[in-house]
Amino acid sequence: MATILDGKALAAKIKAQVKEEAATLPRIPGLAVIIVGNNPASRVYVNSKRKDCEECGFLSEEFALPEETTEAELIALIQELNGRDDIDGILCQLPLPNGINEEAVLMAIDPNKDVDGFHPMNAGALFVGKDGFLPCTPYGVMEILDEYGIDPKGKTCVVIGRSNIVGKPMSIMLLQRHGTVTICHSRTQNLTEVCRGADILVAAVGKNHTVTKDMVKPGAVVIDVAMNRNDEGKLCGDVDFDDVKDIASAITPVPGSVGPMTRAMLMKNTLLAAKKHQA
Ligand code: NAP
Repeated sequence: MATILDGKALAAKIKAQVKEEAATLPRIPGLAVIIVGNNPASRVYVNSKRKDCEECGFLSEEFALPEETTEAELIALIQELNGRDDIDGILCQLPLPNGINEEAVLMAIDPNKDVDGFHPMNAGALFVGKDGFLPCTPYGVMEILDEYGIDPKGKTCVVIGRSNIVGKPMSIMLLQRHGTVTICHSRTQNLTEVCRGADILVAAVGKNHTVTKDMVKPGAVVIDVAMNRNDEGKLCGDVDFDDVKDIASAITPVPGSVGPMTRAMLMKNTLLAAKKHQA
């Protein structure tokens, strides 16, 4: 039976540390969260971010804009927030309604306030190994690995998914820690075979049963980033947890591991932004 990688407990520990450090700053960290339209999942995420800010003693300001908001209006709000001294981090909840160019919106956020780590300046910094804001989900995965003493150095790492927010940055972070990394996607041939070679397997696809027992090498570490719904409407990941836990050496449950860590890393990034702005 695999070790269950408890990201929930680790997230609580990180948030407690963030709160303690935030209290020592001359000014409390401030996070602005923008939500456009009525996507129910986005609403849940934004509510949790507000709760996390309260827990860490941050200023949290929410901007709920109607579905009809134009790209120009949204960018004007971001520019106003870029100029505010009490706001250290700006987060625009994705996805945005049709008609708004996500890339243009993310580009408008001051890279020094881009606590999601999605701006090309921060993505580029990660790529070349310079300091910047790390995207919260892969950053959280790396913290889980560190907490449990799982060192990617020299290991065969397979990441399924190549999105800009999860798969790509995840691969770069594992590479920087000297993993030998393969990135898989929807056109990958022989996915089972490739995955079976992995010492560390990260699934970030968004489809139930993407990773079945036959795709996992005995003793592998399996990280499930996905947040899907099963036929009963319950949250689940990409990995067949019940089968895979019997052969993996360590595994993240869904829910309760990568999700809470993503939220904790947002708080950590906001604290970092506040420290930089107040330095
Ligand atoms: P995304 O942008 O939709 O990317 C999914 C990736 O999976 C794509 O690269 C796609 O390949 C690949 N893919 C699709 N079908 C595949 C298949 N059959 N075999 C192999 N690869 C396949 O999704 P995302 O934003 O990265 O998110 C991925 C999952 O993580 C979702 O479930 C999302 O909800 C979850 N997520 C969780 C957190 C968290 O806090 N836990 C945060 C962010 C995302 P192509 O590039 O070829 O299309």
